[in-house]
Amino acid sequence: MFNLRKDILANRVILVTGAGDGIGKEAAVSFAEHGAQVILLGRTIKKLEKVYDQICQIGAQEPAIVQLDLETLDEATSEQLKETIQDNCGKLDVLLHNAAILGTRVPLENYDSKEWASVIQTNLTSVFVLTKALLPLLKKSVDGRIIFTNSSVGKTPRAYWGAYSVSKFALTGFAKILSEELENTAKVVVTSVNPGATRTSMRRSAYPGEDPRKIKNVKTLMPLYLYLAGPDSRHEHGKEFSGNQQTWDWANRIKGPR
Ligand code: NDP
Repeated sequence: MFNLRKDILANRVILVTGAGDGIGKEAAVSFAEHGAQVILLGRTIKKLEKVYDQICQIGAQEPAIVQLDLETLDEATSEQLKETIQDNCGKLDVLLHNAAILGTRVPLENYDSKEWASVIQTNLTSVFVLTKALLPLLKKSVDGRIIFTNSSVGKTPRAYWGAYSVSKFALTGFAKILSEELENTAKVVVTSVNPGATRTSMRRSAYPGEDPRKIKNVKTLMPLYLYLAGPDSRHEHGKEFSGNQQTWDWANRIKGPR
């Protein structure tokens, strides 16, 4: 769609959470298509296998699959994952925190506590646990990246969006704290993306009455994700990006010969 530099992610190992569907799936395929070795993390094996097949079919480097439920992720499993990545891939350059669940949209006074815990664990606590475990690997990378995925309701509170909105608010803070802590100590560039309204199953369940044809395709986000995962975003540490803006700008930044 954008004819970007095909080798922009050559020699990079990238872990994508929620790689089985939506934005994560498209990002994983796009990263692989541009030279990366991709680790597909998700909870539904059938979806991950489909993405695996899609990546192999385009002739890109064979991806790895990690079936893992972020809702039950603990430190021991994350440590194990770190060891597995080290042993099998030798390194980790980019961590894209993408997976999330929406939860039900109801007033806080009616919000189910179990669902609250589930959304906070999936969208926020797992991000902390995974970041903590994988940071030593990312710090060893010559050009590390951590990319967080935010939302408009993580910036402006919205009634009825409950735990999802709270988790995204907390992620805004988490990314900021981490970027400050890494400012002078590591070569790990921390950024956040707010994709904006994007045609995925999450968007469909949030806005069932909406005409999906009016919502942007995930593909339009890819130049931004490629830019942030690639070598040209070295100076973007601590910044937040909107998927609703400047698609062609990102595409232009990573187009043409190096
Ligand atoms: P989707 O629901 O389409 O995809 C989410 C992915 O996360 C799925 O592959 C899902 O797995 C995975 N996932 C969910 N829970 C877990 C879990 N417990 N363990 C492992 N994997 C899990 O969402 P989108 O692609 O729309 O969203 C991606 C990101 O973008 C999210 O962080 C979301 O908050 C954010 N975002 C999206 C917007 C949009 O308009 N689409 C707007 C603003 C932000 P499975 O398929 O197995 O369920």
